[in-house]
Amino acid sequence: MDNKYVATIGLEIHAELKTASKMFCSCKNDPDEPKPNQNICPVCMGHPGTLPVLNKQAIKHVLKIGYAVNGNIADFTEWDRKNYFYPDIPKGYQISQYKYPLVSGGELAGIKLTRIHLEEDTAQSTHDIHKKSLINFNRSGVPLMELVTEPVIHDAETAVTFAKELQLLLRYVGAGEANLEKGEMRVEANISVASPENTLAQKFGTKTEVKNLNSFRAVEKAIAYEIQRQSKLLERGEKVVQETRGWDENSGTTYSQRLKESSHDYRYFPEPDIPKLKISEISEFNKENITKETKELPWIKRERFTKVFGMTEKEVAVFVEQSEVADYYENVVKDNSKIIKLSTNYILSDYLGLLKKEGKEISKISTTIIAVNFSKLMTMLENRKLSSRGAKDTLAIMMNDNSDPEILAEKNGLIQKNDEGEIKKIVEEIVKNNTSVVEDFKKGKAPALQFLIGQGMKLTKGSANPELLKKLILEVINA
Ligand code: ADP
Ligand code: ZN
Ligand code: MG
Repeated sequence: MDNKYVATIGLEIHAELKTASKMFCSCKNDPDEPKPNQNICPVCMGHPGTLPVLNKQAIKHVLKIGYAVNGNIADFTEWDRKNYFYPDIPKGYQISQYKYPLVSGGELAGIKLTRIHLEEDTAQSTHDIHKKSLINFNRSGVPLMELVTEPVIHDAETAVTFAKELQLLLRYVGAGEANLEKGEMRVEANISVASPENTLAQKFGTKTEVKNLNSFRAVEKAIAYEIQRQSKLLERGEKVVQETRGWDENSGTTYSQRLKESSHDYRYFPEPDIPKLKISEISEFNKENITKETKELPWIKRERFTKVFGMTEKEVAVFVEQSEVADYYENVVKDNSKIIKLSTNYILSDYLGLLKKEGKEISKISTTIIAVNFSKLMTMLENRKLSSRGAKDTLAIMMNDNSDPEILAEKNGLIQKNDEGEIKKIVEEIVKNNTSVVEDFKKGKAPALQFLIGQGMKLTKGSANPELLKKLILEVINA
């Protein structure tokens, strides 16, 4: 039955934008304000007769995203009233964009986009245990970007990859934090199933829309569940009802919330109190001005790191997802291409681990050990002035001492000994004191050699070059 139906998925994703003030008033846009109803005024509480004023920064954020995904930027745009009744929107309508979104088309992570528009967030209602409902207007009027994809996704995993890429993009361009857990980014998945032939002919089945997805895991699990549920219905000859469904994390199932309304139910009409915009006539909004502040986009960085540094997909992902780590890495390797590979390994597996162990934030990466010192450490390892053991020990010391690694390694006796004469003396000593082990080795017991090398490392407190030790031990034994 798994192959009998093909799933089709389209995503609608809302993201709260990071701006100083709200979308249509001068109240502070602070999603972290713990006290309810602090950042409010008659405009964002929907009092009659108030006048909204557009937030330019919010428009810029959407345009940054629009340019990044190669969408068509609207020449003409306007806002519309989307009418519905709910206590979280007391004026009876949400200001949104309907006919003329800021962005149409475009593509992200290989998925075709339908549109990206700008609207206002609603207030937050909570229903407490005494059956009372409480409303907090701090969020009301916060700028909200809505992005809609075409129905071109066919599995849960791709949907998650897409949502993660959008999150990354929002963060890269500074448009928002986009944490799903905090409701800063909200993913709604439209899902249908149909036979492979019908799917190919774009005759999709009836869709449901799943909400309350508070994590990427929830997105993945809810889509997978819904595909199964719909497939089973069709299998039994039943029909999928077009509706909005919620995701219940505890039971791992979706449940019916309400029958889906269609756009005509909202009686959209142009918002008369906000001026219409001719984007092309506003020079601040042109591509050059909007994109000059944005950093390298995530997918471009991904490609560059793969090509220039020869990293694996997994390694690249860590750097692209944490741009502070990527910037640090680039500073470390910039003057010495020979330490590219070593630096990738030592940053990913050692340095990040130590930072975590010491409870330090990722943002401390460039101050805990400054890049020039890290670079020097890697160069010493590359020159075999340090063994890998010595490098790890030096690194641990550097976590709390920002001095030159050469001085630190010297002071702690960690510089790798490459002096043949000096090591030869130690080797002769070892061979003399371990005659039975030497005999074992001569009889063909390979581990015996490892033991002798180990003795050398012990006597030199790990500072001897193990390659050199091995060479000299063989020389002395066979002499
Ligand atoms: P509605 O008018 O019900 O909101 P839209 O046409 O605006 O529907 O599409 C909303 C989202 O649903 C889009 O992301 C779109 O790609 C997706 N979608 C539309 N039809 C289907 C379908 N049959 N199966 C899955 N997703 C769909
Ligand atoms: Zn306000
Ligand atoms: Mg729609």
